[in-house]
Amino acid sequence: MASHKLFLLDVGHGNCSIVVNGDKLTVIDSPTGATLLETLESLGATEIENVLISHADADHIGGITNLLLDNNIRIKRVFVNPDSVKDTAVWYDFRCAVKDAATRGTTTTPALTTTQSPDLSDDTVQFEVIAPTPETALGGVGSQDLAGRSINSNSMSVVIRVLYKGVPVALLPGDIDSAGLENLVAGGKLIQAKYFVYPHHGGLSKGSSVAFTTEICRLVSPQVVVLSIARGGKYNNPRPEIISAICEVLPDAHIICTQLATHCSKDVPPVTEHHCSFPARGMSDQLCCGGTISIDFDRLDESPSEIHADHIAFLDQVSTPMCLSKGMKAVVPST
Ligand SMILES: [Zn+2]
Repeated sequence: MASHKLFLLDVGHGNCSIVVNGDKLTVIDSPTGATLLETLESLGATEIENVLISHADADHIGGITNLLLDNNIRIKRVFVNPDSVKDTAVWYDFRCAVKDAATRGTTTTPALTTTQSPDLSDDTVQFEVIAPTPETALGGVGSQDLAGRSINSNSMSVVIRVLYKGVPVALLPGDIDSAGLENLVAGGKLIQAKYFVYPHHGGLSKGSSVAFTTEICRLVSPQVVVLSIARGGKYNNPRPEIISAICEVLPDAHIICTQLATHCSKDVPPVTEHHCSFPARGMSDQLCCGGTISIDFDRLDESPSEIHADHIAFLDQVSTPMCLSKGMKAVVPST
């Protein structure tokens, strides 16, 4: 039987997902690091049907150039949420790689909005592009939306919902912030899904407050919340107040960080073999918590505690896991 899966990769700080629909692969975001190419190799993939880029920040696009230039992978189509003011070396290299890849048959479309996006769905797996709306995209980064809110690249994040045979599996919201969410809500779109990749890696930023956490968690109403993070580093995500707010709104949800947050454990547990069996950026240094998460679409009827029993067992070895601290105070000072 053909395989239908979603991989949420441990890429450190950033996002990367792979949707496997039989022999067709769709990659959503391509950050720096080797994990995406390693995972494609472990899947035996030589062709990617679609690459979707949610926004132009390096932790979502920093690896696209290497992917486009890799001679072992044929990419059919790339769809990008463009950012006209993004003037970085990463963006310049990407544009050069787009030109080079075109000679090998890759088509790149600089449009990914609720109305401009292609229909990538079939009877088995569906993709819904839920944001940005055309009126938001037409203003662009650096503008204000029609309600006067500032729009940055996070506000413009593409939000994608993946469904399996019509059942919502996962919401992949890039780094959407409160302005982006308010525009999405005003459009009346449904965003409920079983899996929710929390935006902006559980960090605090402009428009990423506890109130934002409460609102988006209520709207998505997931059973599993995934935070794609790097252990420690300059961001030191996820922020304890964000996890506290998630626990408050979704007391029964299973929370999985790809890597072990320093807020949960100052030391890494002395395990020689991690439960995660797919390539993961934190694997070699034993930094994984959930690691790369594999979601089998044919097991969606099972409870998260069954599907992610290995992760729950791993948490036994973590000294103070925030995700199990349902009684956390609303604001916990960083340590
Ligand atoms: Zn990000």
